[in-house]
Amino acid sequence: MHRMHTPGIVAARMGVSAGEILSLFRDSTDGLTKAEVMRRTGLSRTTVNQRLDGLLAAGLLIPAPEDARTRGRPAGQFIVNRGRGMLLVADIGATGLRAALCDLGGEVRAELETRADVTAGPEAILSIVDELFARILKDGNQDAASVLGVGIDVPGPVDFATGRVVSPPIMTGWDRFDIPGWFGSRYGCPVLVDKDVNAMAFGEQRLRYPDVPHLLMVKIGTGVGTGLIASGQVHRGADGAAGDVGHIQVTVDGVTEPPVCRCGNAGCVEAYAGGWALVRDLREAGRDVVTVDDAVRLIRAGDLVAVRLARRAARILGGAIADTVNLFNPRVIAIGGQLAHTDEQLFAGIREIVYRRSLPLATRNLQIVRSDLDPHAGILGLAQLLVDGIYTPERVQELVDGAVA
Ligand SMILES: [Zn+2]
Repeated sequence: MHRMHTPGIVAARMGVSAGEILSLFRDSTDGLTKAEVMRRTGLSRTTVNQRLDGLLAAGLLIPAPEDARTRGRPAGQFIVNRGRGMLLVADIGATGLRAALCDLGGEVRAELETRADVTAGPEAILSIVDELFARILKDGNQDAASVLGVGIDVPGPVDFATGRVVSPPIMTGWDRFDIPGWFGSRYGCPVLVDKDVNAMAFGEQRLRYPDVPHLLMVKIGTGVGTGLIASGQVHRGADGAAGDVGHIQVTVDGVTEPPVCRCGNAGCVEAYAGGWALVRDLREAGRDVVTVDDAVRLIRAGDLVAVRLARRAARILGGAIADTVNLFNPRVIAIGGQLAHTDEQLFAGIREIVYRRSLPLATRNLQIVRSDLDPHAGILGLAQLLVDGIYTPERVQELVDGAVA
């Protein structure tokens, strides 16, 4: 409780916290001088000095490098220290995973990927992730103490508050597994767990469409997933289950017995239009396909059955996305996943249906684009989510207090 009397906290109560001052630096591309901070905050020189001293002592700010200053920066400028700590992130997919080391600007410093089947279960998969983490830390000459945040995304529904996967259709053995607990014992920092497509959506919005607060991300890979960004934040809903367009049930002309979905229901969007469903239908039609990539190759090669199935998938996906557009009114829809790379057959088909079936007001300024961060959207989005958590006023104050104590 003695912390209540430290100068940092008293000053924070008076108005502008160290975290808020730091956010001014984050928003400025070139860095700021003390005079500029005084002008922007209206704070006295004494208070600004005190805050900046705290941020410098905590290593959160550093003087702008000399060489940059000679290129026209005014002297006495400070910038955010993106190397103050490191972030470890991992994007776990159905059949492979990607791990990365990022700085506090969210930029990837090193990345490794490997094939791994998510159904091997949490212990096996997280051990692989941990091995990759150890390797990239070592290669980057960083130690575990420098890690300020760990972020993991998974191809299944996540209860965001506890970081646990809940009744995942494809992640056999992961139900209720305590992912933050597993990593928490290895790294003494917060561990964030999210649904893969939420992370992708956040990455896409922050890095490609920062001026677009309402964005819908659709991932069409093995399954079909969607992530919603509303007012610049991930919209996870009351329980973390928001935006599961892949499991909306649809009726399809000519289908009397709807296919069973991985979630246990029948007739879901994904059970017709997900990569796994296309592989199933192509195999039934006698085509030699095993993976979603095989299906994509066949569609792109113009195989008649594959193209017919892709067009049907586009109609079904387009219909479901059009309904989502009417409900949510995004400005941008970014489409990722392997099947986004089947241009005329799938991507164009979806666009056409969405523009035709959504309300004119909702499509007037709507852009439907291919995700160009894909396949890195997940790790980039996780890094951005972690960065936001580190630069909260509370966490910044903790780091400042830790440095001056
Ligand atoms: Zn389903």
